[in-house]
Amino acid sequence: MAFEGLSSKLQEAFKKLKGKGKLTEKDVKDAMREVKLALLEADVNYKVVKDFINTVSERSVGQEVMESLTPAQHVIKIVNEELVTLMGKTESKLNVSSMPPTIIMFVGLQGAGKTTMTGKLALYLKKHNKKPLLVAADVYRPAAIKQLQVLGNQIDVPVFSLGDKVSPVDIAKAGVENAKKIGADYVIIDTAGRLHIDEQLMDELKNIKEAINPNDIMLVVDAMTGQDAVNVAEQFNASLDITGVILTKLDGDTRGGAALSIRAVTGKPIKFAGVGEKLSDLEVFHPDRMASRILGMGDILSLIEKAQESIDEKQALEMQKKLMTQQFTLDDFLSQMQQMKKMGPLKDILKMVPGLDSAKLGDLEVDEREIARTEQ
Ligand code: GDP
Repeated sequence: MAFEGLSSKLQEAFKKLKGKGKLTEKDVKDAMREVKLALLEADVNYKVVKDFINTVSERSVGQEVMESLTPAQHVIKIVNEELVTLMGKTESKLNVSSMPPTIIMFVGLQGAGKTTMTGKLALYLKKHNKKPLLVAADVYRPAAIKQLQVLGNQIDVPVFSLGDKVSPVDIAKAGVENAKKIGADYVIIDTAGRLHIDEQLMDELKNIKEAINPNDIMLVVDAMTGQDAVNVAEQFNASLDITGVILTKLDGDTRGGAALSIRAVTGKPIKFAGVGEKLSDLEVFHPDRMASRILGMGDILSLIEKAQESIDEKQALEMQKKLMTQQFTLDDFLSQMQQMKKMGPLKDILKMVPGLDSAKLGDLEVDEREIARTEQ
């Protein structure tokens, strides 16, 4: 579950402040020491942690406590605000071209989840009534082209390919031309990844960038690799001047170091996050909602959006009527359960509910097999 480890450690640190009528400088200092340790253990960049703790300490001690807040709530409020700032304050949207198509170039190391993410973004754009085209410009990895074609098929999005005998620069250029021809308003270009950053890879990516002048150069990094992801982001940014980062595998990232450091270290925003293996497992990266989740305060807005995407409102109203007139059948019950399941694992959904203590949720095992058994 995302941020689980960091979240429970921070809540531990704040627990000690609760019940105190007035906070002394020492109270704040002690709490900040724990927050610092929690962030370092979460693999947040050392300099980022240092600056963060300095800012929060200064603000916590110096300021008048708002009357409506207890001193502990006051500190949590400041930590929350500074976490939001650290991650970029507001969501960062895609750079849209005034002359379609908008060109998005995907770059990243092998295994980060780049190819999957091109499919996720294409599906996201489709859901927003856009017409994307996927372009297969990874000619080195065996089966990369096939993987993209399979993804395209699954979401009914066209995939442009010239096989693996043509140079990636020419494929990218032809892909953009093809988008114009078929009236696609977004072109997403999947480029090659390597296991490590090397000159040759960077040169090729620079050449593609020069040839097609993309609106966005999106770096895909694996959140679970923590500081490594931050180093990768720094290096790609130095060579390519990327415009945004996409964090994948946030669903398995209990620590959160990459999410909290990348913006501060590279100056580039995280625009999206991958939160699972399914193509619908994509989230817009909202710094404020992430901060809420890290602090264990839930994320009611994402919960509502997930529900809106997965639950058929008309059907829900009908069910309500049936329930009230006692016409609710077992088939109706089954259909309700299936709609709820579309929202994802129950454990992840519970994490978004404000007021639930994530430290306690950590011990809770929701047995999804029980739900499957009830369905039968
Ligand atoms: P690429 O080499 O960067 O193109 O990586 P792929 O797109 O082939 O993905 C590598 C692996 O990561 C695959 O097994 C994906 O299913 C998995 N993966 C990608 N994104 C996510 C994610 O957000 N969450 C999880 N849990 N797995 C993911």
